[in-house]
Amino acid sequence: MNHQGVIFDLDGVLVTTDQYHYRGWKRLAEEEGIPFTREDNHRLRGVSRMESLEILLEKAGRVYSAVEKQELAERKNRYYVEFLQNLTPDDALPGARSLLEALKRRGFRLAVGSSSRNAPLIMKKVDLCGFFDAVADGNDITRSKPDPEVFLLAAERLGLKPAECVVVEDAEAGVVAARAAGMRCIGIGDPALVGAAAKVVGSVAEITLDTISQLECGNPPEVGISAAVVYQNEEQIVKG
Ligand SMILES: [Mg+2]
Repeated sequence: MNHQGVIFDLDGVLVTTDQYHYRGWKRLAEEEGIPFTREDNHRLRGVSRMESLEILLEKAGRVYSAVEKQELAERKNRYYVEFLQNLTPDDALPGARSLLEALKRRGFRLAVGSSSRNAPLIMKKVDLCGFFDAVADGNDITRSKPDPEVFLLAAERLGLKPAECVVVEDAEAGVVAARAAGMRCIGIGDPALVGAAAKVVGSVAEITLDTISQLECGNPPEVGISAAVVYQNEEQIVKG
């Protein structure tokens, strides 16, 4: 099977908005009088918005109701979106733009597959829209990663079968989603988290056309692995 499409996760792969998530949570924590440090923030990586809020509230002096939690999560997202306005094309991660250019030149069809509802804004601010033939994001789906919905939709919008697509992901839930979609995956970051990917690299800068063509070899991904794993987080609210 020749791979014809590459589907990229956005945050942590092509761009990082970590500092804006941190500032959003930090501002919320200060307003609520809850201690929140950069170390606390590390625990929020790859975690959904509501799960992140639960971690932040571990240090709260009181119990918050479900309605209050919803308001807190929405307030944090407002701050985050406000901070995202500061993104510029320089916020593309090193190597991201050159990889996208090389893939385009080689004739690959490219998509973004992100659970974030803010993906369109981020892509616009960082000036990445022109590279992509299709986008599937948190506005289009009902189930976040690790559900495969966002990747299956991206492939459909590219006009490709899942097996014709490669996914690039930096989160464990994203690797699970890619495999469940029947797609080979390149994992970015800690092998302890993304080790289930067919290939693990340190950053997008390490990915070349060869990295993708070498995925042709080896066993095909397991389709529909462990439905229990895929659906256990079904209730999570999309991140970002
Ligand atoms: Mg990511």
